[in-house]
Amino acid sequence: MQSFAEELEQLRAQGLYRSMRVIQGAMGSRVELDGRPVLLLCSNNYLGLADHPELKRAAVQGAELGTGSGASRLVSGTMELHQRLEARLARFKGTERALLFNSGYAANTGIISALVGRGDAIFSDRLNHASIVDGALLSRANLHRYPHLDFDALEKLLQEKGGKGRRLIVTDGVFSMDGDIAPLDRLVGLARRYDALLMVDDAHGCGVLGATGRGCAELFGVQKGIDIQMGTLGKGFGSFGAYAAASGEICEYLVNTSRSFIFSTSLPPAVLAASLAAVDLVDSPEGARLRERLSSNTALFKKRLADAGFDTMGSETQIVPVFVGPAETTMEFSRALLERGIFVQGIRPPTVPAGSCRLRCTVMATHEAADLVEAADTIASVGRQLGVI
Ligand code: PMP
Repeated sequence: MQSFAEELEQLRAQGLYRSMRVIQGAMGSRVELDGRPVLLLCSNNYLGLADHPELKRAAVQGAELGTGSGASRLVSGTMELHQRLEARLARFKGTERALLFNSGYAANTGIISALVGRGDAIFSDRLNHASIVDGALLSRANLHRYPHLDFDALEKLLQEKGGKGRRLIVTDGVFSMDGDIAPLDRLVGLARRYDALLMVDDAHGCGVLGATGRGCAELFGVQKGIDIQMGTLGKGFGSFGAYAAASGEICEYLVNTSRSFIFSTSLPPAVLAASLAAVDLVDSPEGARLRERLSSNTALFKKRLADAGFDTMGSETQIVPVFVGPAETTMEFSRALLERGIFVQGIRPPTVPAGSCRLRCTVMATHEAADLVEAADTIASVGRQLGVI
């Protein structure tokens, strides 16, 4: 039997070994790493809410109600704050109801494995997040993966596969490693035509995209055409957890069947209170200002990189990949940037296909424009040294 140490050694030899970097002190758009300040260019805290005074105040007040919820939702772990946050999210998303999950990962695995099962069919974009793939595997339904955004291929699969069982089309709203957006209007059309449920994972769109931050569905004006809108509270909303916004019927079904909802201790009051403050903030004029700032910061950063000759891989959002190719060069790139005060992670297999390794830069509303210009110029200078551009 091969030892774990040998396997780890193999990963190291392939340039695929992973380790964690420790941030000292507080979150922000600049953080302290190894005792010195660096520009944080790899956080999903897109609006900078994770260190917003209103969220922190709300969390402290929430903690007065207890540090833990003490039980799962169906036992004694449903507090008024769960109810209030679910009602607030449903109002925000314009759906009949919303249901909290403990994380986006728990939501995707729990929702998908509850809604479909043996004999049913799942149609999933090839670049969907790992938690969607895991949910599909857990469900034991037949999984049909279509090439990224290839809706002709999807339609062919919908015509040929699925039989009499339930059908579920599932897609990321914003693809997490490429930063492009799924054209949800087309998917809504296909779901209707082929009598399929449509689920959208809006982890990177909710709070951030659309005129009022309601996410990808708002961008395409298709809120009513999506059966399950999943969103996370740990990225744009700066808190923690996730939700499914859907009909009363679907939410009630999930309460009764979704294993990650049923069999896990519910979110604690401090987190719920911070999330409530986050939704209010996203839904306020300050939220609109932060989204505008994120959008102008993103445009500035992306243009500077493109002008330097980088391939940003069709990004349409604040997730800005910089194509590198080989794993070793990507990690060397990331190391060299850290030495120059820029914290950005290299992304390698199995997260992305071999040969398409990249730096995944993420822009925040709270970045200073001058810092982004300087960062783009430093990335260009290292990119030239490494022969990437
Ligand atoms: N879906 C997508 C598209 C994601 O990028 C992520 C987070 N990386 C998740 C789901 C999981 O969300 P969470 O981090 O809240 O578990």
